[in-house]
Amino acid sequence: MGDLELYLLVSDHWKADGGLMFGVVPKILWEKQKTADANNMIDCACVGLIARKNGRVIVCETGIGNKLSEKRARQVAQREPEGLLDALQRLSIRPEEVDAVIPTHLHWDHAGGLTRRNETGGVELTFKNARHFVQRSEWDFALRPDIRSQSAYITDDFTPLADGNRAVEFVDGDTEVLPGVHVRLVAGHTPGSQVVIVRSGELACAVTGDLVSQRPHLKVPWNMAADLDPLRVFEEKARLLDEAEKHRWLLVLSHETDQPAGYIEESGEWRPEPRLA
Ligand SMILES: [Zn+2]
Repeated sequence: MGDLELYLLVSDHWKADGGLMFGVVPKILWEKQKTADANNMIDCACVGLIARKNGRVIVCETGIGNKLSEKRARQVAQREPEGLLDALQRLSIRPEEVDAVIPTHLHWDHAGGLTRRNETGGVELTFKNARHFVQRSEWDFALRPDIRSQSAYITDDFTPLADGNRAVEFVDGDTEVLPGVHVRLVAGHTPGSQVVIVRSGELACAVTGDLVSQRPHLKVPWNMAADLDPLRVFEEKARLLDEAEKHRWLLVLSHETDQPAGYIEESGEWRPEPRLA
């Protein structure tokens, strides 16, 4: 895309409860698009982006990572705990060569890969030389979450970025964190959720995070039960989808398993980008 090299990053395959994914949308409607298993779990992926621009490597989203307990990994049917580093390795990128890491928010299924469990059982940064860009409002909330959000944040995922390291850069609102790499504060799902937008001239690719989790969530009022502020989600989602359609932005959906990168047609239809399948 212009002077950008983009690679889809699928770091994990796992399962989430259908009710969690679709909130108040009746199952009779969502199950036409996503099949639930006997435990009402539906297939999910953790989807992000690896971008190369001006010799820099930027990783957007890090997935679940390798720190889940065996029990928890089984509960969510996590399949590839080393998927993040495997994906980079396929591009011949070593973790220490990554310059910037941008999780959309700090929930365990997006920030888990920021740190990893090493051979001696300790927790270390996955990308030791990278700057990590996080909204300050997200960081503050993740350290003191409300009672409903407590299970979604695991401090080992992110506190090592600040404790004994100076790897995190706090962002307040919409910011160009690197030339051509923007974050947009959308909040809604969590107080500091951000969309990452990488640009090359007129072209742009947006990593949506849980603002648009899967293809059924392209319908504005279809949102996740986990959203803290659904009305804000609807507002920001409508705005993003409108821009994406008008300016032909490429979108990357955070948990879609089937062709998660694509464009919005004028009709509202999803047109997958076959080169990022
Ligand atoms: Zn998520």
